[in-house]
Amino acid sequence: MTEELRLLKEKHIKYIEALDKKQDSYEYWLTEHLRLNGVYWGLTALCLMDAENTFDKTQVIDFVLKCYVEATGGFAPFPRHDAHLLTTLSAIQILKTYDSLDILSPDQVKKCIEFVRGNQLEDGSFQGDKFGEIDIRFVYTALSTLSILESLTPEVVEPAVKFILRCYNFDGGFGLCPGAESHAAWAFTSLGALAIVDRLGDLTDEQLNEIGWWLCERQVPEGGLNGRPGKLPDVCYSWWVLASLALINKLEWIDYEKLREYILRCQDEKKGGISDRPDNEVDVFHTLFGIAGLSLMGFEDLKPIDPVYCMPPSVTKTIRKYPYE
Ligand SMILES: [Zn+2]
Repeated sequence: MTEELRLLKEKHIKYIEALDKKQDSYEYWLTEHLRLNGVYWGLTALCLMDAENTFDKTQVIDFVLKCYVEATGGFAPFPRHDAHLLTTLSAIQILKTYDSLDILSPDQVKKCIEFVRGNQLEDGSFQGDKFGEIDIRFVYTALSTLSILESLTPEVVEPAVKFILRCYNFDGGFGLCPGAESHAAWAFTSLGALAIVDRLGDLTDEQLNEIGWWLCERQVPEGGLNGRPGKLPDVCYSWWVLASLALINKLEWIDYEKLREYILRCQDEKKGGISDRPDNEVDVFHTLFGIAGLSLMGFEDLKPIDPVYCMPPSVTKTIRKYPYE
């Protein structure tokens, strides 16, 4: 590999900008169920590239408000859809990034908090919505949302922490529920959730070392990271694995240069954007997580990213830390 690889920042900005203007296309409607998440991924990637003004703030906020579901208090991926925890977090992240949470009325905020809390189950876990799909992602999603809204309480936090610790496996990974196979995405959501409520200290040094080993073994010879043993590498694990390592102060256990090269090889040199693997179709999800990974490693002159919240530290530094004084 002798060619000089670099981040094609201008092309990625154009790629994300174009997504915002594709409202008439088939592709746009096809991904309707992801729309609000997509706006968050795009906006955060733009922030990292110091181009957050690429989106029209007023239009984005207007769209977020249209996704608010009066009946339940959560946010849907798209107007007139059902609310879900994942898109509720995206809505709150977007408003927080724009320093515009106060556009919600006190009553809307109150109902939103109730929506999140109302999805917690007896064992401390959360369901994503009334259809009852459960996994540890939703614990992270719920705690992150409540944290940004500064409304965490011990009644929510204590059972959630217990549930997360039950998802820890002896191989050093975390499963999506107690006893399930370890997966890098669950490592991030577990560690991120514990970090949000200042409970990483509930893990012993020995466990943290095991976790570090399990995570750094995700790097494959071609430089990319996989989600679990024996699987192909994928750019989004540049976030799940690297952010996890950052949270337990073991980021340097990864070979930065090789991972950087892998991420840059997944860029579409013509239209911009980053894919999961070299030569695959790009999407905004992998574009964000590729860029976020490069930012965590300090490459390409990018803005920093907070490994706990996946938002710029300039935004998250204003979130009140739990436990509240
Ligand atoms: Zn992926």
